Amino acid sequence: MSESRTCPAPTKPVQIAPIELPVTGEVGRRSAHSPTSSGTVHAMATSPAMTTHWLLEVHVEAFPPPVVLPSEAEVVVIGGGLMGVSTTYWLARLGVNVLLVEAHQLAWGATGRNAGLMLAGATPLESPELVRTVLREEGINAEYTEPGHLALASSPEILDKIHREASQRGATSAPVYALDHSACEDLLVMRINTRFLGGRWFPGGGMIHPTRFVYGLARAALRRGAFLATQTSVLKVSPIEGQESIDVCTSRGGIRTRQVVFACSTSINEFLPDFRKVITLVRGQVMSTQSLPEMFRIGLAVDWGTVYWRQTADGVVVLGGCRNLDPIAETGAQVLVNQRIQDALAHFLPDAFPGFPTFRIGQRWAGIMDYPVDGRPIVGALPHAPNQWIIAGFGGHGMPAGLGAGKAIAETIATGRAPAALEPFDPGRFEKEG
Ligand SMILES: Cc1cc2nc3c(=O)[nH]c(=O)nc-3n(C[C@H](O)[C@H](O)[C@H](O)COP(=O)(O)OP(=O)(O)OC[C@H]3O[C@@H](n4cnc5c(N)ncnc54)[C@H](O)[C@@H]3O)c2cc1C
Repeated sequence: MSESRTCPAPTKPVQIAPIELPVTGEVGRRSAHSPTSSGTVHAMATSPAMTTHWLLEVHVEAFPPPVVLPSEAEVVVIGGGLMGVSTTYWLARLGVNVLLVEAHQLAWGATGRNAGLMLAGATPLESPELVRTVLREEGINAEYTEPGHLALASSPEILDKIHREASQRGATSAPVYALDHSACEDLLVMRINTRFLGGRWFPGGGMIHPTRFVYGLARAALRRGAFLATQTSVLKVSPIEGQESIDVCTSRGGIRTRQVVFACSTSINEFLPDFRKVITLVRGQVMSTQSLPEMFRIGLAVDWGTVYWRQTADGVVVLGGCRNLDPIAETGAQVLVNQRIQDALAHFLPDAFPGFPTFRIGQRWAGIMDYPVDGRPIVGALPHAPNQWIIAGFGGHGMPAGLGAGKAIAETIATGRAPAALEPFDPGRFEKEG
């Protein structure tokens, strides 16, 4: 196929966008609410490219940019985060000719910047069984475990809500238990600051290494015939009038396709302006420590996720949150480290756990979440745009649904029939609801 007329000539590989970083320094000062804090924190130099703990642990060069971009594909998927890679994987598994286009590296967006907590159960798309099966079938070692999750309650109101939730939980839902302060200490085998009154224990909570997950899935997609083009930006998507084809204009030239899947999270609003009213972009701050002795075998949070953390298999604690300290600054699509929030994160562990050992910070980073106005992800066919699809809007809770959502949308594209499980996520619902 000849190159699309809407497309500029192929250019040099896209450079990863420069990111502003604050000057780091000593942050061993105690926070105002930490009378019992005994730990000390020393900041370490951060990489000028603001890499994340997770991205440092995979070989990004395993997916180099294409020497020649294919000019045709049955389906083009835009975005190489969990949603795009999962959709590509399932399409390739169904025998569909699929080309994924990623502006930077795989998992460069929210997928490579999260905490890897897998708290499944909110929707039928979130299936731990599906995750276990695919990891086993494809031989992916993503350090997936289901050790449980404890959310510490910071007020009597929150603890009350946890008690109500635990007692009213339906018989078909995974159980949740309300614990008092000392039961939380017994569970963690650690002292906990008395400002935490108790907690919500969810034995079904899981954790995963997000980039190993996505890179393993991408390798499986390649083995099944998918084509992945990293460091290639999609610039424009233009349906061709009177034909069932769509021109996808990229920084490396044009692709003619029959179907396009928008899995590009924070850029969706640029391609599909109607979704600006529907998706709000919110920034989250995350840091990782150096490797520490095993302290947290389970995933943890404060309340409904004001702060969240987990320890990896090699002892690194990945900790995020404290957005409520600067909510206005932490809105929008700019990937910037917020020093004030990072300082609070650095002091959180010594404050919450008396006697917490001194540690050094490994990496600090930020990531952007795409929150839909009604809190439900947006997965399915775009209204008034034949053969165009969207998989987005997972906010701060995309990891457990990634495989199920990608499978559901791939099956819909391949068979023309949407599974009932996708109904609540219909992208057309915002029009119907006015
Ligand atoms: C700080 C933070 C903490 C989180 N913690 C958790 C957690 O512990 N558990 C959990 O379940 N969820 C968590 N989440 C949410 C989870 O990470 C997301 O829901 C999920 O990763 C979304 O995946 P995605 O593929 O939709 O988006 P992304 O991973 O952002 O992928 C989108 C991709 O599209 C690419 N792209 C954009 N524009 C273009 C273009 N024009 N051309 C080509 N490519 C393009 C981007 O480079 C990016 O790689 C967190 C998110 C953040 C930011």
